[in-house]
Amino acid sequence: MKKKKLYTVGIDIGGTTTKIGLVNCNNNKFVLERYVEVDTLPGQNNLDKMLDVIIKEINKFKKEITACGVGVAALINTKDGVVIKAPNVLWSEVNLKKVFHRKINLPIIIENDANVATVGIYHTIIKKKYPNYKNIICLTLGTGIGGGIIIDGKLLMGTSATAAEVGHFVIKVNGEKCGCGSYGCLERFIGARWFIKDIVETLKTSKYDTIIYELVNNDLSLLTPKLLYEAALKKDKFALEQWKKFGKYLAVGVCNLINILNPEIIVFTGGVAKASKFFLPFLKKEIKNYFWPVISKSRYYPAKYVKYVVVADKKIYGVIGAGILAYENFLSL
Ligand SMILES: [Zn+2]
Repeated sequence: MKKKKLYTVGIDIGGTTTKIGLVNCNNNKFVLERYVEVDTLPGQNNLDKMLDVIIKEINKFKKEITACGVGVAALINTKDGVVIKAPNVLWSEVNLKKVFHRKINLPIIIENDANVATVGIYHTIIKKKYPNYKNIICLTLGTGIGGGIIIDGKLLMGTSATAAEVGHFVIKVNGEKCGCGSYGCLERFIGARWFIKDIVETLKTSKYDTIIYELVNNDLSLLTPKLLYEAALKKDKFALEQWKKFGKYLAVGVCNLINILNPEIIVFTGGVAKASKFFLPFLKKEIKNYFWPVISKSRYYPAKYVKYVVVADKKIYGVIGAGILAYENFLSL
C-alpha cells in the first residue's frame, strides 16, 4: 500500500503580510510545496475576518493536513496559544489557539515569528551544511532585534513567554528608553529604527563629510539601513564608522549569548544582515575584548568554536519553520 503523505501548514503573520505554506514533512525532508501571501488585517476587530481569509487559502491546498503551526510577530505564550502583545498586528491578549479551533479542527501551535524562522533555518540550511551541530542561535536584525535558540536540536521555548528575546538584553544601565518600556536594551542601540534615528540626530547636529545628505536629497527622514549600506559600499567613511559601531554593540549581545549557551553557530538574518560584511569584522574583533580574554589562548575557548552564518533572505523560513514546529510537536513521535 502506498504510504500517505504527511502535510502540515505553516503560517507566518507579520505586520503587513501573512504567509501561508503547505509543508510536506515526509522523511523529515520538509519541502514547502505551496506558498501564498495575503494582506494582514491588523486590529482585534478584524481577527475573525483575518482567520477566515487564512482558512480559505488552506482549503485551496486540497490536501489532508495533519497539524498547523503559526508564527506571529509578537510576544507569545505557546503553552496556552496566547498572543500577549503584537505591536504591529495590533492584537493584545488574544487566545489565538482558541479562535483558530472555533474555525478549524487541527492540532495547532502558536509561536513567536523569530522562533519559527529559527526552526526553518535550522532544518533547511544548518542541518544540511553542518549535520552534527545542534546548538544554534539565530539573531534577526531588522526594525527590532529578535532571536531564536536551538539547544540539542530543539527550540528553546521557555516558561511563559520571552525565551530568546535577545533584543531586550540591557547593555547600558540607565540608557535610553526602548520600545518595550525598559531602558538601554540592545535593540535600543541597533534595532534599525533606533540605529537610524540616532544617526539622523548626529547628522542634524553637525555637518559631516558624507554622501548620505546627497543619497537622501537632504531629507534625512528618508535615511534607511539600505541607504547606509549603499553609502558604505561607496567607501563613505561616516557610513563605515556607523556599521563599525553597529558591530561593536552587537558584539556585546553575542558575547552574552556565548557566555550563557556556548553555541556552535550564530546565524544573522533579517534585512540588516545584508550589511554583515561591514559589521561582522568589528564584531569578531570586539568579542576578543569582552569574552574571557584570560582563556583566549586555550583550545577550549568557546568563541573559537562559533561559526557565523548570514542568511540574508528570510522570506520563507518562518512559514516552513511553523510547519516543521507543528510536525515536531504533534506528529514526529
Ligand atoms: Zn527593550
